Amino acid sequence: VVSIRGLRKRFGDNEVLRGIDLDVAQGEVVCLIGPSGSGKSTLLRCVNLLETPTEGTIEAAGHDLTGPDADLDLARRDIGMVFQHFNLFSHMTILDNLVVPQRQVCRLPKAEAVAEARRLLAQVGIEGKERAKPAQLSGGQQQRVAIARALAVKPRLMLFDEPTSALDPELVGDVLAVMKGLAAEGMTMLVVTHEMGFAREVADRVLFLDGGVIVESGPPADVLTAPRTERAREFLHRVL
Ligand code: ATP
Ligand code: MG
Repeated sequence: VVSIRGLRKRFGDNEVLRGIDLDVAQGEVVCLIGPSGSGKSTLLRCVNLLETPTEGTIEAAGHDLTGPDADLDLARRDIGMVFQHFNLFSHMTILDNLVVPQRQVCRLPKAEAVAEARRLLAQVGIEGKERAKPAQLSGGQQQRVAIARALAVKPRLMLFDEPTSALDPELVGDVLAVMKGLAAEGMTMLVVTHEMGFAREVADRVLFLDGGVIVESGPPADVLTAPRTERAREFLHRVL
């Protein structure tokens, strides 16, 4: 579902990604960990073309993102993204946050979009909030709505950038539970997270990024418990 080759990204003279090769298979959950500034968000943003790669190629969800005739609108439909700060449409109701993208992106008739929105809100455990505005929900509820909204246009790949790190600790579990359910349903997911428990339990593979390169890659039991490099050992020592 994802194939990245020789990806480099520079901001001025600051080379943030220094040659990333990464494949993610259908249904695979890959967690990305690493110190602040190591390039985790930049990598994710390249996969969604929120950043333009300086060098290299990216194929994602059946789209050649770096080719000459990349259709970004079409590609973004198939690639959902959830950010640290929920980025809901603040002036719209919760229901409309899910209905409007389906109408605009998928051209669904209103009744179908509303039915699907209700189904998704139930799936993420949000009930009786349809007419509320985002600001009336807790952070954890807003983030679950953000996940439901991303799912509404039926992406083939979901990107998560520290989806729980802006939440109060007691709200983290509900959001992780929704992500776990999504993984269990077979969604392909690339997740930047500091939640090592989630990575250990849900990830098929953990990548440790440092200085813009993938320093370690393997099953969680290997990377999190028995890292091969000193840099990963040091990092895990600090976060665990
Ligand atoms: P964190 O854990 O703090 O979120 P990160 O691993 O996600 O860190 P990135 O946000 O990818 O790190 O940033 C990597 C580097 O790229 C940093 O040095 C940052 O200052 C730089 N950077 C990111 N975005 C831009 C931008 N739009 N313009 C210039 N520099 C940028
Ligand atoms: Mg980041």
